[in-house]
Amino acid sequence: MTEGRIIKALSGFYDVKNEEGTFRCRGRGVFRKKNITPLVGDFVEFDKSTQGEGYILSIKPRKNALIRPPAANIDQAIIVTSAARPDFNPLLLDRFLVLIESKHIRPVILITKKDLLSESEEADLLDWQAVYQQIGYSVEFVSARELGDFEFLKQHFKDCVSIVAGQSGVGKSSLLNAVNPSLELQTDDISTSLGRGKHTTRHVELVEAGGGLVADTPGFSTLDLTDISAEELSDCFPEISEREPGCKFRGCYHYKEPKCAVKQAVEDGEIAEQRYAHYIRFLDEINSRKPRY
Ligand code: GDP
Ligand code: ZN
Repeated sequence: MTEGRIIKALSGFYDVKNEEGTFRCRGRGVFRKKNITPLVGDFVEFDKSTQGEGYILSIKPRKNALIRPPAANIDQAIIVTSAARPDFNPLLLDRFLVLIESKHIRPVILITKKDLLSESEEADLLDWQAVYQQIGYSVEFVSARELGDFEFLKQHFKDCVSIVAGQSGVGKSSLLNAVNPSLELQTDDISTSLGRGKHTTRHVELVEAGGGLVADTPGFSTLDLTDISAEELSDCFPEISEREPGCKFRGCYHYKEPKCAVKQAVEDGEIAEQRYAHYIRFLDEINSRKPRY
C-alpha cells in the first residue's frame, strides 16, 4: 500500500501523486455506494496495479473540504480584489474573508490594478490596506501592467496548497497564468469568468506554483453565508473574536448587549467601524434566515 495526494480529478479517475510519480487511480466501488467522493487535495492510500495505475483504498481525514472548487485540505486562499474596474469593494472582500475563515483557511489579500489609480485614490486604498493589516492579514498591491509584478507573488504559494478567489474581472486568470504559464487561461476585460475557451470542461487540478500547489479553478463563487451560524460569525472576524472574552455576557453577539468589549473597541477606534458594520450586516443576514416558530 502506498500513500499520495490527489492532484487531479476527471470523470472517475484520480491522479495521485507522491515522490515516485503520478498514478492514475480509480476509486473503490464502495466509495460510490457510500456516496464518498474523493476530492482533489485528498491524502489517500492506494494500491499500485500496473504501470502508473492504481486503486484508491481509503481517504485520510480532511482538514477542510470545499464545494467550489471541489477540493480538500486547502491551506490558503488568495483573495483577488481590484483597486478599480471593478471598484474596490470592502463589503465583498469581508464576505470572502468570512467564508474563507469559516473553512479554517488562511486568507491573503491581493489588490490588483494599482496602475489604474490616481494619487488620491491610491491614498484611500492605502488606508484600507492599513485596516486589514492591523487585523493581521497580509495585503499586497500589484499591477499586472507592470510586467513581472506577479513574479514576486510566487513566494506566497510556497509549501502550501492555495486557491484563488474573487469576483469576475479582478485579475484571477492573469494571476494564475503568471504563476503557472502552462495554464494559458483566457483573460478578458468584459468580465468573462474562468472556464471559457481552452478550459471549457472544468475539472479541478492542483498545479505547481512557486514551490507549492494552486487549484486551477477559482473558488467561492456563491457568496451567501448559508452554512455559517451567528455563533460562528464572530470567529470569522479575528479582531472581534480576540476581544470576545472581555464581554460581560457569554454568548454576546456584540450587537445590543451592554458591556460589550467589541463595541467598546469600535468606540475606541481599535476595531474599524466599517468592519464592525459589515459584521452586523452579516449577522442580520444570518438571523433573518432563521426559521421563526
Ligand atoms: P478574472 O475574471 O478575475 O479571471 O480576471 P482576468 O485575469 O481575466 O482579468 C480581467 C481584465 O483585467 C483583463 O483584461 C486583464 O488584462 C486586466 N488586468 C488584470 N490585472 C490587471 C492589473 O493589475 N492592471 C490592469 N490595468 N489590468 C489588469
Ligand atoms: Zn460583545
